[in-house]
Amino acid sequence: GSGREDPKPVDATALAGVRLTHPERILWEDQGVTKQGLADFYADIADWALPHFVRRPLSLVRCPNGVGQQCFFQKHRWEGLSPDIHPVDVGDSEPMTYIEDLRGLMGLVQAGVLEIHPWGSSIEDIEKPDRLIFDLDPGEDVAWGQVIDGALEIRRRLGDDGLESFVKTSGGKGLHVVAPLEPAADWETAKDYTRRLVAAMERDTPSLYVSTMAKRVRKGRIFVDYLRNGRGATAVAAYSTRARAGAPVSTPLAWTELSEAVRGDHFRIDNLRQRLDFLANDPWEGFFSLRQRLPGAKAVRRGRS
Ligand code: ATP
Ligand code: MN
Ligand code: MN
Repeated sequence: GSGREDPKPVDATALAGVRLTHPERILWEDQGVTKQGLADFYADIADWALPHFVRRPLSLVRCPNGVGQQCFFQKHRWEGLSPDIHPVDVGDSEPMTYIEDLRGLMGLVQAGVLEIHPWGSSIEDIEKPDRLIFDLDPGEDVAWGQVIDGALEIRRRLGDDGLESFVKTSGGKGLHVVAPLEPAADWETAKDYTRRLVAAMERDTPSLYVSTMAKRVRKGRIFVDYLRNGRGATAVAAYSTRARAGAPVSTPLAWTELSEAVRGDHFRIDNLRQRLDFLANDPWEGFFSLRQRLPGAKAVRRGRS
């Protein structure tokens, strides 16, 4: 495998009191990343990662035998879960899961979880989203610069409504723009706001942006997916690994870092630590302390547009 030449001085799972079965099992063949390697990676970046997905209902991509083998997108609980993976009732027939800490995260690794997809609301109030997310999915023949422009366009439009936003790599083909919110409006209101924002982008520049699934295959345009903002919808968490070749990680960026050189899969298990070591500031400084709300939530609910 590449990178990570230094052996870990402390066994991450021992530290968290979790016993890994098959620690030597290879999860990302092309990178030589094992289950123990994944545990070490998460333990190493836990202070950066955990705040983005603790105390939220989680959908989980489990690939017990690694990338390229059978994977499951799991919304509900399964047999043999660690006691550090807690149940949360979201109104389904079965509970979902949440974690609170490193032990819970190690429990996810033990269960073969390679991707963590939280709700946009916390277990404190699952009916009130505390973040919006815009998922930019470039179609064929879309230049990376166009994806960057799309993210900046969303940022500008949010800014016009008084909302500060943040950008991350998806760990795949695109970028995600995220705006933290005070949990005040309901899901319908939040989704409707994002729908109208994206519809306006499509209306103003139909050659660049598509807002509906049906048209997403059209070449040369970006599908700006606002449907991640519905109740029960998810998007991959900041600092989650992806069950894809190269062991990419969805990575928060400063807006000034967007560039030709940083594609959606640029940051990976083998280079993220180095990035974090060299950062002068948190690229998402302020993300957890911002207090901001959707503009005129009542007006939105009356359907003015
Ligand atoms: P990319 O940049 O490659 O598009 P992405 O994470 O944005 O990466 P998408 O396909 O655009 O991938 O988004 C898929 C989203 O849909 C995921 O973030 C996930 O939360 C959600 N999702 C819903 N059902 C599934 C499923 N069965 N498998 C994987 N993701 C699912
Ligand atoms: Mn996407
Ligand atoms: Mn998408």
